[in-house]
Order: sequence, then C-alpha cells, then structure tokens
Amino acid sequence: MTIETQVETHKETLGFQTEIKQLLDLMIHSLYSNKEIFLRELISNSSDAADKLRFEALSDDALYEGDADLKIWINFDKDARTVTIRDNGIGMSREEVVDNIGTIAKSGTQEFFKSLTGDKAKDTQLIGQFGVGFYSSFIVADRVTLLTRRAGLEASHGVKWESTGEGEYSIETIDRDSHGTEVILHLLPDEDEFLSDYRLQSIIKKYSDHITLPIVMHKVTTDKEKDETTIEEEVVNTAKALWARAKAEISEEEYTEFYKHVAHDFETPLARIHNKVEGKNEYTTLLFIPSRAPFDLWDRNNRKGVKLYVRRVFIMDDNEKLLPPYLRFIRGVIDSNDLPLNISREILQHNKQLDAIRSGTVKKVLGALENMAKNEPDKYVTFWKEFGKVIKEGIVDDYGNKPRIAKLLRFSTTYDDNETPTISLDDYVGRMKEGQEKIYYITAESFAAAKNSPHLEIFRKKGIEVLLLFDQIDEWVGSHLTDFEDKQLQSVTKGELNLGDLENEDEKKEAEKTSDTLKPVLERIKTTLGDKVKEVRITHRLTSSPVCLVADEQGMDASLERLLKSAGQSVTGSKPIMEINPQHPIVNALKEESEEIRFNDWVFILFEQALLSEGGQLDDPAAFVKRMNEMLVSMGNLNSSRIITLNQ
Ligand code: ADP
Ligand code: MG
Repeated sequence: MTIETQVETHKETLGFQTEIKQLLDLMIHSLYSNKEIFLRELISNSSDAADKLRFEALSDDALYEGDADLKIWINFDKDARTVTIRDNGIGMSREEVVDNIGTIAKSGTQEFFKSLTGDKAKDTQLIGQFGVGFYSSFIVADRVTLLTRRAGLEASHGVKWESTGEGEYSIETIDRDSHGTEVILHLLPDEDEFLSDYRLQSIIKKYSDHITLPIVMHKVTTDKEKDETTIEEEVVNTAKALWARAKAEISEEEYTEFYKHVAHDFETPLARIHNKVEGKNEYTTLLFIPSRAPFDLWDRNNRKGVKLYVRRVFIMDDNEKLLPPYLRFIRGVIDSNDLPLNISREILQHNKQLDAIRSGTVKKVLGALENMAKNEPDKYVTFWKEFGKVIKEGIVDDYGNKPRIAKLLRFSTTYDDNETPTISLDDYVGRMKEGQEKIYYITAESFAAAKNSPHLEIFRKKGIEVLLLFDQIDEWVGSHLTDFEDKQLQSVTKGELNLGDLENEDEKKEAEKTSDTLKPVLERIKTTLGDKVKEVRITHRLTSSPVCLVADEQGMDASLERLLKSAGQSVTGSKPIMEINPQHPIVNALKEESEEIRFNDWVFILFEQALLSEGGQLDDPAAFVKRMNEMLVSMGNLNSSRIITLNQ
C-alpha cells in the first residue's frame, strides 16, 4: 500500500504551538529531579509505534516492508555526546510530525493551561497529571533531532525534525530507507552520566522492563590479542508480557511502571485488577483505576486506554468493544488466548467470545469497586470524587448490572449535610424511619440549593433523611433508578406529598380543617396567577417558608425541565402546582387583604420567590424587584424622601 499525500519537501522553520513553550519551561523546572524519565517516555512512544504498525499490518502485511521483527535500539556516542532511541514501528509522515510533535493534540490541553496558576510550585503538581511524553527529551538535551519515515511510504518521504526547544523547530523531507523513528538527543553539558552502558541499562530495567518488545543495546567487545572489535546486540529488558507472569513474581514497582506506560499517566494508580480467567474462553486482564480523572473524561468518544492482545500480540486499543462507556476511565490490557490472531475489525464487531470477555471484565471491575467500598472506604471516597459521575451513567446504560451499580452510588444527604458524597443507598435504607416506605431525594443545581430547599422543611422536622442530588446527570439517574431493593425512589418536589404512616392522625385532621377555611383565598390566588400555575393547594411540606412549587406526579421536575431547555431541547413546560403554608404570617395576612392591587402584588411576590428559591429564572426580574420595593416602602411606612436620604 502506498499512501499518496501532497507533502512539502523543502526545509521550513515553524513555531511551536504557544502552549508548548510554556509546557517545556514548566516541565524542565518540575521534572529535573527525576530527569531519567525521558528514556521511559521515548521507549514508551516506540512501543506504541510498534503496536500501531502491528495493528495496521493486520489488514496490510506489506507495511512491514519485510521487517516484522519489531525492536527498540538504544545507543550512545561518547564523542558526539548523543543518546539515540530508534524503533522500526509505524513512523510518521511530514504532516504527522507537525501534528504530533509541533502541536499538543491531547484533548483537554486548553483546560490544562487554563488551570495553571503561574505559581511554579503549584503548577509542578499539575504537570504530572498532564503527561509530557516526547518533550521530556528537553530535560537532558539542548537539541533534539528526530528522523522518521512512515511505514508504507517511499524512501523519499522521510522526515527530519530538529529543535532546541526554544519556540521553533525545523522540518525537512529526506531520504530514509528504513521505516520507523530515530530520536537523537544532543545532551546538555552536564548530562554526561547518560553516556554509559551501565546507567542506560539500569534506567531501562527500572522503568521499561515490562515493554514487550526487545530493547536492544550494542555490546562492543575488543579482543586485544587479535586486535578485533565485535559488536553484538544485547537485549536489556525481560521483554515478557507483565500480565502473563505470576502475580507473586511481579513487584509493586513493575506494576506501577507498566501502568504509567499503558495509561500515559505520571501518577501511581489507585487500584489494580489482575485476573486470569480459565475455562473455555481463557483470557487475562490487568486493569487499573487511575488516581485522578483525566482531562478528557467527558469525551465519551475518546476511548483509548484498554488494549486488546491475542496471545501476547497487540491487536487494538479501540475500547468500544472492550468496556462500556461508563467504565471509560479504566486503563490496562486484556489478553485473549482464544480469539484468532488475524482478527479484523469486522470480526470484532460481532464476536461472541469478545462479548463474553467484555461482560466478564465489567463484572470484575464492579467486583473490585465493591471490595474497595467495603474494605477501603476512604479510598472509595477518593474514587467516587474522581469518577462517581461517570459511574452514574451506568445506571442509565447498563440495565443488567443496575442493581450492583446502584449499591456503588454515593450521595450527599440531609443526614449530615456533607457536600462530599459518602452515603450509600444501603446506609440510607438502614436508617429509614418506622413506617417510611420510600427513599426520598431532591435534585437541584447546586449543593446549597438542594440543602436549603424549602421542600425539605417537613422532612427535616420529622427527621426523615433525603438524598441531595446536584450533578447534572442526577436528573437522568433519578428517572432511571425508580427503585432500590423494593423501595421506590421519590422526588420530594413531585406530586402530592403523602408521608403515609409518618403523619399522625391529629396532623391530618388539622390540615383538613385549615383547608376548608382557606378555600376562598386559594381560589383567589389561582385567579390572580391564571395559567402560570396548574393548581393552588395547601402544603404538607413546609414549616417555615410561605410557599413552594411542585411538579405534577406525571409531570417533569422543574430542574429536569431546565436541564432539557439548556440542552437545547424544546419542552412543553408543564405548569407547576403552588403549595401554600397556612401557618405562615404572610398567608394569614393574605386572607385579610381586601385591596385587590396589594393582594396581586403579594401573590406574585410569593410565586416569584418560590421560583427563585428552587433556582428558577424569573420572566421579568425587574418587575419582581419593583413590586418588592413597593412592598417594603409601604410596610416600613417609608416615604420616597427618606429613601433618597438613605441613598446619599
Ligand atoms: P503520547 O505518547 O501521550 O501521545 P507524546 O508526547 O509521548 O504523547 O507523543 C506525541 C505523539 O507523537 C504520539 O502520540 C505519536 O503520535 C507521536 N510519536 C512520538 N514518538 C513516536 C515514535 N517513536 N513513532 C511514531 N510516532 C511517535
Ligand atoms: Mg508518549
């Protein structure tokens, strides 16, 4: 296969994307104490390049150009003071060099740079999260030369890239016989330590032993008697798939280095899942949960992180077939013993074995999370803070595992009003009151709005716990998680509140009596508000606020409606029901109010404050403010001249 692309052939000098300069400065400052990691990063890239070539060669053997023995070579030259990392992987075209090396293509780059504070100490911690990859070369080098050719392109399509890491790079088209990439580091004056067999070998052993390709160094031996020098290739790493080794033989450090390579992460993982499944469908999984959410967590389409191998041979890292979207934060490998090696994308689309691997893997991950929640609750709180919102998608996406996922959910509740979600549905059910049949929840736009909602007054008074939901996705979760272990979930802002056995008989009788005496005023309020509300009725929810708005049992929660509207969907607004608190002094005053204009003002102020208190928007905020001020003036017997003096 030859790829015909129109490429520039002359030498040109281009500027780095502005962020790269900033990134380089920050990185050199923050990673200097751990500078040897440049080698790990470059080896990791070579290993990825080999994986990519293997994958593309599945459908086009010719890409190997007769050289399917993929390797990484590390060499140094004492006189030239260079260290060279070379591979025969996929290589890059001129365009790809500009895109991959001159630009940071990572999603989340913008967010990363926005999150920088300018304070080097603080930013140093952030850089680890972002990952610096290729640019770590500049920690030890003052000039980096990259020679490459993409597999399948003609020799005349080679590329030479060079930069001193100071804002610019040059790029030119060259002749290059072999495909793959060679990175030549021209070391800074103080970095002679890397011009040593021993030093390089120990770095490779330390960070890259798990790389499945042979990492080769040249061993030069001189036979003094014969005056002969021989150069042999010596494989430095074990080059054995880490996941295929016995667990007991793998050290913590080896696991961690392997994780950093597959996950492109600089931090240690939060947890790992290493399993061998035996039987008629045999496979091994070595999966990790990162300690921190990546910047592109919300990109449901960008899902590379779990690699599929067949008998130690890399096949693909297109996750979609391997894990459902709600587990997209998982990193690692799945290695099947039974899938055919020459598997194509098409076969992967409808493969029963792969489906079984996928559902088995999901169960393993859920099991690991259950164990963490049980045995390491503090760690689980950290996990939930980073990934809880993604796990919630599973309630909507993964019907079969819904009951297990429901048990993994963590909530803020009125039990302790803690904004950090730590309470499970099991905790909640265990604390339910005598006679309580439902699990109550409220959704709102923020923790404060949920916690302080007037809808909670009666629940707080009676000591009934309510889940406080304030993530955008909670609206969907609420509509899909209708029950938990035979207990219905009930929004406190929806429908007629019937606390059933939780209300005592006296309270019920009292409520009926007031309802009768208030009938005329309820009707007057309804007439005033017209079709702004569906109904006006006495509340069972409020103890200190005068009014609140509730949705019809069949209707949509006000906050779900707002969510849909903000997502650009047209919703036929269902009208709210206004509930009023007969005990409240304003409501009592309303009963006596005979002046029509004042009655109207009161009613509108009550309606609008109910809207505001649940985070809604007023159609005409200025009119609300005007009414409010008029009311204040008349109540305080203020006159306009006094207001003017107050303002001065
Ligand atoms: P990352 O590896 O996380 O993508 P890097 O900065 O390490 O980030 O590398 C940037 C990109 O440059 C890689 O994604 C890859 O496309 C390209 N690249 C780097 N090294 C090589 C290589 N040896 N062979 C082919 N492509 C490479
Ligand atoms: Mg990399």
